[in-house]
Amino acid sequence: MPLKTPKEYLESIKRPINLYMFGEKVKEFWNHPIIKPSINTVMKIYELAQIDEYKELMTAKSHLTGETINRFTHIHQSVDDLIKKVKMQRLLGQKTACCFQRCVGFDTANALYSVTYEMDKKNNTNYHERFKKYWIEVQTQDLMVDGAMTDTKGDRSKRPKDQPDPDAFLHIVDENDEGIIVRGAKVHQTGFLNSHRAIVMPTLSLRPGEEEYAVSFGIDTNTDGITLIYGRQSCDTRKLENEKLDIGNFKYGGQEIFVVFNNVFIPNENIFMKGEIEFAGELVNRFAGFHRQSYGGCKVGVGDVLIGAAALISEYNGTQNASHIKDKLVEMIHLNETLYSCGIACSSLGFQREAGNYEMDMLLANVCKQNVTRFPYEIGRLAEDLAGGMICTMPSEADINSKEIGPLIEKYLTTCEGICAEDRFKLLRFIENLTMGVASVSYRTESMHGAGSPQAQRIMISRQANFEEKKKFVKDILDIEE
Ligand code: SF4
Ligand code: FE
Repeated sequence: MPLKTPKEYLESIKRPINLYMFGEKVKEFWNHPIIKPSINTVMKIYELAQIDEYKELMTAKSHLTGETINRFTHIHQSVDDLIKKVKMQRLLGQKTACCFQRCVGFDTANALYSVTYEMDKKNNTNYHERFKKYWIEVQTQDLMVDGAMTDTKGDRSKRPKDQPDPDAFLHIVDENDEGIIVRGAKVHQTGFLNSHRAIVMPTLSLRPGEEEYAVSFGIDTNTDGITLIYGRQSCDTRKLENEKLDIGNFKYGGQEIFVVFNNVFIPNENIFMKGEIEFAGELVNRFAGFHRQSYGGCKVGVGDVLIGAAALISEYNGTQNASHIKDKLVEMIHLNETLYSCGIACSSLGFQREAGNYEMDMLLANVCKQNVTRFPYEIGRLAEDLAGGMICTMPSEADINSKEIGPLIEKYLTTCEGICAEDRFKLLRFIENLTMGVASVSYRTESMHGAGSPQAQRIMISRQANFEEKKKFVKDILDIEE
């Protein structure tokens, strides 16, 4: 059965990769204390897929090979698959309280599957079979794949071809009989470092004259010419300190990487789009749609943990019976379940593409993600409210452990009878971490910008809205002639 164990996954990513952090090259990134939590998170995906209780959500039967595969490598074959995807993402959010990084490649594959089919139908190309072959390898080896879309974009007022530096958007710079050479950079790469492979896509709809930017391909993440630069995030160096209490979520975490492609060769067999400008926008929209659906699962799972932390800290503070506290917890549930409703709704209204795979409803997926750009901020605000100001005043673990001042801290920061002061400190740090520390990137900033910033969803919502139909409804009722 092609399911890697967590240990096999860990061993498989131990390869030289051109990664920089704090101006220095990182050797053996899998041992780096800032990076390790992100690897633990991915290992959790592999772990849950091995456990009977979770197999229904975590695995699927491949329509390409008939084998049982990790759901993160599955091409959706039904509405039920779309729903299970969202449920799986909520589960993983609950188990890790952060971004688990594997959905981007998953969503890319599902978008490319139908777009390559439609490209071939129109242009008589052979991308679909090529992609299927590539993806069967992914499924049978249980590989983690990243999806790389966002270019650095240079001057936002200019088209790719008008940029002072043409590399502001990743593009083809040369080609020969064997393949192409590309140059450019992709940013906000959550999963790139911990993935075996990545699939690169264009970042926007393209026009005639921009053919060199209409490029999609698969690549091993440690290919020659690729440089990774680790993104700096709030409070990240707490992970370099010896104490774990100050970290908050000391087991799991996400990350963001800046990836530079400097004249990288791509062999023909790994190219899934080359110059088809008329399909670039469709690939971007389908990928974005799938990823906006994803947020109706993953952020809900993280929200579950944060709501749990807020409820628990209320107990530890002795405020749990106050009516306004109960009401705020209900509000948090209401917001979180609204996000989940959107994730489930856009999946339930999924439909079959001509290629045979299933896709979520585009309008509801965009409504889902638009809500995700807002509600986690409000859930986080309420969690901070319930935690109290102590999340900002709480001394460090070193102070708590100090012989001189440790007992004073314990004496004055102990709350209710039977509540261990250290557990309360852990919770406060956890809430701090998720709302304003390094994990707030996974919960808040990703909610804002991941799968496209809010305006990107508003554009899609306006395109899907069908105002003419709505105007006709009122005209019919009021006998207004056309
Ligand atoms: Fe998956 Fe959510 Fe992370 Fe995107 S932000 S990769 S959907 S966990
Ligand atoms: Fe994301």
